[in-house]
Amino acid sequence: MAKVVLKDLTKRFGSVVAVRNVNLEIQDGEFMVLVGPSGCGKTTALRCVAGLEEVSEGEIWIGDRLVNDVSPKDRDIAMVFQNYALYPHMNVYENMAFGLRLRLPPTTPLAWLLQRRAYKAKNAEIDRRVRQAAEMLDLQQLLYRRPKELSGGQRQRVALGRAIVREPKVFLMDEPLSNLDAKLRVQTRAELIRLHRRLGITTIYVTHDQVEAMTMGDRIAVMEGGVIQQVDTPLNLYNHPVNMFVAGFIGSPEMNMLEATLKRLDGHYFVDTGSFQVKIPEGRAKNLEAYVGKSVIFGIRPEDIYDPELAPFSNRDGNQVTVTVDVIEPMGSSLLVYLTAGKHPLIASCDANTRLKENETWQAVFDMQKAHLFDKDSTKAIF
Ligand code: ATP
Repeated sequence: MAKVVLKDLTKRFGSVVAVRNVNLEIQDGEFMVLVGPSGCGKTTALRCVAGLEEVSEGEIWIGDRLVNDVSPKDRDIAMVFQNYALYPHMNVYENMAFGLRLRLPPTTPLAWLLQRRAYKAKNAEIDRRVRQAAEMLDLQQLLYRRPKELSGGQRQRVALGRAIVREPKVFLMDEPLSNLDAKLRVQTRAELIRLHRRLGITTIYVTHDQVEAMTMGDRIAVMEGGVIQQVDTPLNLYNHPVNMFVAGFIGSPEMNMLEATLKRLDGHYFVDTGSFQVKIPEGRAKNLEAYVGKSVIFGIRPEDIYDPELAPFSNRDGNQVTVTVDVIEPMGSSLLVYLTAGKHPLIASCDANTRLKENETWQAVFDMQKAHLFDKDSTKAIF
């Protein structure tokens, strides 16, 4: 196991800057997720760590080694890709053993004779590792099948097995679940988490799926435009996004964001969207004076908008908003409610027991303790 450090990492492809001045420390044994929309540079960053792309500027450290000039095979990493990259003519056992065999000395007849004992011992070691990984991944019954005789999920497990047998210091995974159907993806996600807990190998995992990131990562680095926007635990990213990009990217459905003006009335601060006005709770009304009279962005997550009868708090001080229900989508355990507050459309995620009807007018309650405010110019969070 090893710590991985990216220092001022930049990667250019001609005039395109795919990764820009990235600094990231991944702790020994940590599961770090790189997440962001298509083209944000996450795969390129991973490929730089793997040694598949040459770094334009900066340093990559694996353990206590600067690896900028170390070839991929000597970096003590194992990579799992989206497309599995299994050898079609080899069975599962051979696919898993292949990477280890490549590390053996040349097998000329003379070398083979001279090193017969070492070779036998190595083969026994390969066999032990393959069977152990097969057991971990529940592949024992499939060892002699070829990839074409396997399901997508089984193939992905073989690809994982091939990485595990190498007993690397670092796992690098590039969207390994994206070829699986929704149900299998959830199952395999849980298997991967269990496997990581068991092996404790430092892992960098790339995905564009924020749900995958939130459920798997010890910490998550959110990227956009080649730049890391925020690195934090899943809960902190959700509760304390540092800017509008992270706030919009983490959470589903997305946070409602509305342009508003900050006002001060009788010593209290209010957010006025033009369609409604809500009060900022006393405890959160710090360092706001500079924004009074200015345009800000007000953010409220769908799950922080409540049916007044079902809100888990009794406070109704400046947090009620008159809304009209446009459409209700039952989701089973919850309802997605599309609302309009004046000229502003909003989405609320409500308890399934909410007795709302379409076209009804309703006093929605906002949990203002969890609302967000952003500087409109810098897009940075005010709170
Ligand atoms: P996706 O989720 O779509 O794979 P990503 O976040 O992994 O996206 P990258 O593949 O890292 O993004 O690409 C980052 C940027 O670098 C993109 O603008 C892409 O077009 C560009 N890029 C990537 N590889 C190359 C290359 N070999 N040559 C030129 N440009 C490249």
